[in-house]
Amino acid sequence: MNGRLTLLAVFFSFSLFAQQSNDHRVIVIMTDGFRWQEVFGGMDSSIVKVKRFHHGDSAAIVSKYWSADVATRRAKLLPFFWNTIVKKGQLHGNRALGSKVDVANPYWFSYPGYSELLTGQVDAAVNSNDYRANPNTNFFEYLNGLPAYKGSVAAFGAWDAFDRILNEKRAGFPVVNAFDSYKSYVNTQASSLLSDMAKDSFRAFGDAEILDGFMHYQAMDYLKNKKPKAMFISYGETDEFAHEGHYGHYLNAAHQFDAWLADIWNFVESDPLYKGKTTILITTDHGRGDAVKSEWTSHGEKVKDCHSIWFAMLGAKVTSLGEVKVSEQLYQKELIHLLGKNMGLDFQSKVK
Ligand SMILES: [Zn+2]
Repeated sequence: MNGRLTLLAVFFSFSLFAQQSNDHRVIVIMTDGFRWQEVFGGMDSSIVKVKRFHHGDSAAIVSKYWSADVATRRAKLLPFFWNTIVKKGQLHGNRALGSKVDVANPYWFSYPGYSELLTGQVDAAVNSNDYRANPNTNFFEYLNGLPAYKGSVAAFGAWDAFDRILNEKRAGFPVVNAFDSYKSYVNTQASSLLSDMAKDSFRAFGDAEILDGFMHYQAMDYLKNKKPKAMFISYGETDEFAHEGHYGHYLNAAHQFDAWLADIWNFVESDPLYKGKTTILITTDHGRGDAVKSEWTSHGEKVKDCHSIWFAMLGAKVTSLGEVKVSEQLYQKELIHLLGKNMGLDFQSKVK
C-alpha cells in the first residue's frame, strides 16, 4: 500500500471506494481564523495579560477560561471538542505533538482558504477576498449534480463572500450568506421571524457579515425543516474579534461556536435521517500569528506561521482516533477529498 492508502485506512473504518450510499449525509462547518493554539491549548495567558487585548476585563476572561492544567483549560474553552469529539472522532493539528495541518495556498487569508477547502485544490489566481465568482467547481456543487443529492444541498455563511466562493449562480443550490433574505426558503412563522430579525440586526461588521447567532439559527431552522443531505455552515466572529484585538470576545465567540457544534451534533444524533449516516468536518480557513509580537490579531502572507490550521472529523465511518499524537502532515486541499472518500465518492474540481 502506498502512504496515501495507509493514511485513509487509518482515518476511516471501512474499505476504500465503498459503494456510494445514497443515505450518506455530510455537514462541513467552519469558523473563520480560529487558531490551532487555542484549540489544543485553550486560553493563551501571554495574550490575556496584555491590556490592549483584555480591554480592562482580564479577571472575567481568566475566571471563565483559565486553568493551569492544559486539558482542563482547553475543555473550559471548547467543551464539545474535548468531551465529545475527542472520544468519538478525530482532532488533527496539534503541532506540539507532531500533527501538522497547513493551508497549501500561499496567501493565508479567507477567500483563498475557503476556496482551497471547498474545491480541494489550490488556484493561485484566487488571491483576493474580493475575487469574482469562483471559476473552480466545489464539492457541494458536485454533490448537487449527483442524483442522490440533487436539490438537497445548502450553504449558510455569516460572510457575504460565499455567494462568490461557492459560485451560487452556477452551483445551483441555496447559498444564504450575510444579510440575504432567508424567509423565501422555508415557509413557517418561525422562519419568517428569524429572517426579519436577521435583516434588522445590528451590523457590527457592516453589510458584509452578519453576527454568527443570526446565521446559526437560520442554518438550524433550515436543517430541521428541509433536512438537506449536504450542508455547509460557516461562522465569522472568531476572525472579526481577533482583528479587533479583543481576546475576550474572540474566546467567547469560539466558546459559542463550540456550543453550536453540540447543537448540530445533538440534532444529528436525534434524527433518524441523520443518525449514524452523517459525517461532519470541522475546520478553519487560515491560522493567525503567534502571541509573540502580538501577531495573533492578524494573518496573511506577511504574518509568520498563519498557514497552520487544524481540523476535526466526527460521525459516520470516522475512526475514533481522538487527539492525533503521531507525526503527520496534512493540507487543507486534502480535507474535502478525505470526506469524499469517506462517502465513497471521488470529487475533482473543474474550471468552468
Ligand atoms: Zn481575517
